[in-house]
Amino acid sequence: MNNKNLSVDLQTWFHQFKRELPFRKNKDPYRIWISEVMLQQTRVNSMLDHYRAFLSEFPTLADLASGKEEKVLSLWKGLGYYNRAKNLHRGAKYIMENFNGLFPSDSKELQKVPGIGPYTSNAILSIAFSLPYAVLDGNVKRVLSRVFAFSGEIDNSSNEKILQGYADELLDTKFPGNHNEAIMELGASICRPKDPDCTICPISTYCIAFQKKRVGEFPKTKLPIEKIPLKFHFYLIFNESSEVLIYEDPEKRFFPKFKTPPFLISGENLSKSYTSLNHEMSELINHLPEAKEIYAGKHSITKHSIHLFFSIHKVKEKDIKKMLNIEFITLNSLPNRFPSSIVSKILKNPFLKSYNFKF
Ligand code: SF4
Repeated sequence: MNNKNLSVDLQTWFHQFKRELPFRKNKDPYRIWISEVMLQQTRVNSMLDHYRAFLSEFPTLADLASGKEEKVLSLWKGLGYYNRAKNLHRGAKYIMENFNGLFPSDSKELQKVPGIGPYTSNAILSIAFSLPYAVLDGNVKRVLSRVFAFSGEIDNSSNEKILQGYADELLDTKFPGNHNEAIMELGASICRPKDPDCTICPISTYCIAFQKKRVGEFPKTKLPIEKIPLKFHFYLIFNESSEVLIYEDPEKRFFPKFKTPPFLISGENLSKSYTSLNHEMSELINHLPEAKEIYAGKHSITKHSIHLFFSIHKVKEKDIKKMLNIEFITLNSLPNRFPSSIVSKILKNPFLKSYNFKF
């Protein structure tokens, strides 16, 4: 395969057809970083509003580093995987403290920044600094698996090393940023997961799968895992001021980094790791007055499919013995403190909306 010609054809196509996107306007590593992390969560069209709002609130690395975590998380709402937002915030502080606010252009140093792994590092170094690092995201893996008719599963970590080798081999080291953006764009727009549009593909003459009429066979992936069905029951415990109780438990399997209303997890044959309440909180729940159980819809977290329920309870704050790590907050501030779409599903429920909180 003539790698050089492939990259030239790919970049010529990119130059002609690339979408005008806000993060392509300049080569600012901060903007590239934010866009790449958001793009790991969702497609371009769905992330643009989030990107604009984030950059308007935090236009520079220094603004992000000095911003409040609550604000960062609230701007992340809807994107999911809130740890990534927390890491962006921590990463910005780390760069301010350790590199005087300037992104290091050394791969090892850059990967010391919280939240920056090999993929993000390669994207920043190639696009912002024109350094010869090839990116390997989901789109690129799919394109490479077809171009090379790669018979291994692309989501297997040892195969990723082989694919990284292919990506390095194809990289145009003179224009690494352009090359990387072009191959990612090709995967997003033409070499799509289903129905790739090979007839207009700029690299079809190099693509082994296309030449051998075997495109439908690639990429090879692991069989989908069957989802584990779970029931989450949230206990909304209100005090005399209609504030809701949240608590922190770093041992929780789900949302260990957030204060949440207490919730019980149930399901068939669950291991102990699913136990969601510590002893003190279990005691409190067991002594709550009985309340109606309300269905709040479905939710999904990685390999779990979840049915959400909640119940409403009123307690006198003084009757709850002073437990560590509990707090009462207004219902309006709950989405910021526990930024999961679970909260909006519960808050939208008509039963909660019409509830009389008076004691
Ligand atoms: S020819 Fe088809 S399968 Fe091959 S890279 Fe292009 S779009 Fe993908």
